[in-house]
Amino acid sequence: MIQKSMDLSKGKVNINIGEKVLGEDLVVFSGPCSVENLDTMRNIATKLKALGVDVLRGGAFKPRTSPYDFQGLKEEGLEILKTIKKEFGFVISTEILDVRDLEKAEGFVDLIQIGSRNMYNYVLLEEAGKLGRPVILKRGFSATVSEWVSAAEYILNTGNEKVILCERGIRTFETTTRNTLDLNSVAYLKENCRLPVLVDPSHGTGVRSLVKPMALAGIMAGADGLMIESHIAPNESISDAQQTISMEVLEEIMKTSKELWRYR
Ligand code: PEP
Ligand code: MN
Repeated sequence: MIQKSMDLSKGKVNINIGEKVLGEDLVVFSGPCSVENLDTMRNIATKLKALGVDVLRGGAFKPRTSPYDFQGLKEEGLEILKTIKKEFGFVISTEILDVRDLEKAEGFVDLIQIGSRNMYNYVLLEEAGKLGRPVILKRGFSATVSEWVSAAEYILNTGNEKVILCERGIRTFETTTRNTLDLNSVAYLKENCRLPVLVDPSHGTGVRSLVKPMALAGIMAGADGLMIESHIAPNESISDAQQTISMEVLEEIMKTSKELWRYR
């Protein structure tokens, strides 16, 4: 029997993340684009903890457009994340690119991220879903909202309700910014879909100075949380330096987001 698409407009999925409830409380995910080395990660984690960031993000496996660019520390990067989790008690989120790597994340990666380039990788979506922990599904950069929600259903169909959508910008005719952050999708999804939604203004703009205004706009569009690339020395980031913000700007974003939260 062919199953019909689910009605995702009914109900509301809330997900416990550390002390917070995604869906009720503002949840902030932040950290570097890539896991670079243990020392840098410790310094970043110290700052993020002090700022009250809820989830530490960092890519061990990096999906890069050019095969000659840094591909991430891979297993070594996962080990660094594991150490950081132990030392700081951080909730950890990292991207898994390949089904063969999912088991390496088991046990210590709290949230599995599926990146924009893998939104259509349905085998990966199903296998990630089967782990039973929350899955962050980034929007494919050429995906319609309907295709994105259908991809989410692959995860939901494994019996895992803990799916988090992340709007990270789409490719349009506009080339002034790296991507066009589609905040329409956020407002639309909050009205029509029970899943929590994050906004990623880092990949959404690709421009450091635009991260703050678009993060705040994302909050007012109804986002349940933010995913932001930050670093203690943004210019020295190994990947995505041009869109990575300082800890000072992250602090400003968090403070203003909390204030705006009351007006939604
Ligand atoms: C990331 O968040 O590290 C990333 C690679 O993002 P995206 O999949 O949205 O490009
Ligand atoms: Mn990045």
